[in-house]
Amino acid sequence: MASFTLQGIPVSRGITIGRAHLLRPAAMDVKHYLVAQEQVEAEVERLQRAIDAVQLDLQSIWSELPTDAPTELGAFLDVHALILSDPMVSEAPLDIIRTRHYNAEWALVTQVDVLSAQFDEIEDEYLRERKADIQQVAERVLKVLTGSADQLPRAVGVDEQNANMIVVAKDISPADMMQFRDVAFTGFVTDEGGTNSHTAIVSRSLGIPAVVGLGNASHLIRQDDWLIIDSDAGVVIVAPSPLLIEQYRQQQAVLLKARKKLGKLKKTPAISLDGIEVTLLANIELPEDAHAALEAGASGVGLFRSEFLFMGRTGVEQHLPSEEEQFLAYKQAVQTMKGRPVTIRTLDVGADKPLEHGEHNILNPALGLRAIRYCLKEPQIFLTQLRAILRASAFGTVHILIPMIAHAFEIDQSLAMIEQAKESLRIERIAFDENVQVGAMIEIPAAALSLPMFVKKLDFLSIGTNDLIQYTLAIDRADHEVAHLYNDTHPAILQLLSMTVSAAEKAAIPVAICGGMAGDIKLTRLLIGMGFRELSMPAALLPEIKQEILNTNIAALEPSVKKILRTYDPQVIQELLAEVRELRLLH
Ligand code: PEP
Ligand code: MG
Repeated sequence: MASFTLQGIPVSRGITIGRAHLLRPAAMDVKHYLVAQEQVEAEVERLQRAIDAVQLDLQSIWSELPTDAPTELGAFLDVHALILSDPMVSEAPLDIIRTRHYNAEWALVTQVDVLSAQFDEIEDEYLRERKADIQQVAERVLKVLTGSADQLPRAVGVDEQNANMIVVAKDISPADMMQFRDVAFTGFVTDEGGTNSHTAIVSRSLGIPAVVGLGNASHLIRQDDWLIIDSDAGVVIVAPSPLLIEQYRQQQAVLLKARKKLGKLKKTPAISLDGIEVTLLANIELPEDAHAALEAGASGVGLFRSEFLFMGRTGVEQHLPSEEEQFLAYKQAVQTMKGRPVTIRTLDVGADKPLEHGEHNILNPALGLRAIRYCLKEPQIFLTQLRAILRASAFGTVHILIPMIAHAFEIDQSLAMIEQAKESLRIERIAFDENVQVGAMIEIPAAALSLPMFVKKLDFLSIGTNDLIQYTLAIDRADHEVAHLYNDTHPAILQLLSMTVSAAEKAAIPVAICGGMAGDIKLTRLLIGMGFRELSMPAALLPEIKQEILNTNIAALEPSVKKILRTYDPQVIQELLAEVRELRLLH
């Protein structure tokens, strides 16, 4: 078979080489035949048995959910169990067998087609998307019927030929994902999904290579094909030549060795060659990610994207998380971090992170009612969250971070709401940290251009470069058509960063970077040369950023960094950046 390469979205790190284990998107193109009259009841029973088996299977996965399983997984399992017990799914196909004499698979697919067509008509986008859940449930039943249920070897990640196994799927359902946690698969490849899809989150938290959003990889790749995943590049090489496998094995060995070496730095503080300490923090999406943060040696959590507790909620969990549920989640992260600071960002929904039941249909969501704008319009939701965060502050060091602020009144109103939440806790005699620090994200150019407004009223700043770049360069960060214009070293961005670090320095308040630039090793020297002393990034990136800092003499960088900030010529910026990166071991 000829080798070919697929390009997708990189969501994790590293290289893995192994054989494809295809999770078939169940053959919806099933066999069609009519069963004889005397066989009808046996056929009905066959389908009933398959439905019962899947129901049992879902229950047993539910009951075996580890305590650290992402909360939405349980909710998804509930939804699937509910769908399966709905007469439209569990009984209607039995009637089709009885009345039309279709075989069980055909009857099930026929009914799913009818239901899918009805879902397509639904106006509400959220409900319309539930079609996928019905299909996933039907696929599970079909797999039992056709005897093609995925045979996941328990607790082994290698086949009999000692090859690592890589899961290839259209998408990975939550139920399947739980099984992968027990089985040491060494990579994930999916047709669908984006940077923050389930697969992406799980693969990052497990620290295994993955590429998502590959289009039709699951059709192009065959069972047992050899694959190379180059996760950093977002590339999957199918059927590579033995020579290429050997090259990647060598590269993998080098990476593994380097990673092992980096692991030894866990307890080493990130101090430059000229003795300047840089605080390295981790970004987390769910409370359980705090373990990876600790493991990577983070000094704290610089960004807890709390909106992940609010998104993707279905079934019994479809309402927003209660104060108690949020409190437990924040407390879990805070306790895991054992006294290290945890910066919890208040709800940053909207645009690319819509709430399932929130406001859709906004003309231009990135410029719409998102983040703090949404929270100030929904004070009850905001207050509930603030109370939960404050309650968690009694169990460690918590900082509150407000996203997307551009106006002075937004700062004032946010601070007033925090005070209101505190007062309600005082009245109820519930413990919290009276001195909890409050900071703002600098991610709108207007904020970076009016820093005196911020530094006077807030305890710290944190720059969200992802949005700062989007809004400064006027490019939608989620639109691949303009992805080539997303340029983090555009002079405008560098100026805004430099202005922010200077203003914070002058006001003597800390400033961090928590957007993607903080975890990009190509920019580490530039950023610390500009004066940044706090960087927050995905935990997996932290060790190599630390190593870069350990190998840098910050004072020696300063002349080149000054030159970068003085020029407006992109070409010269790139040349100077390369120079800065190449300055090796400056003692
Ligand atoms: C950012 O905008 O850089 C940021 C850290 O926030 P998010 O990516 O969650 O919008
Ligand atoms: Mg942002």
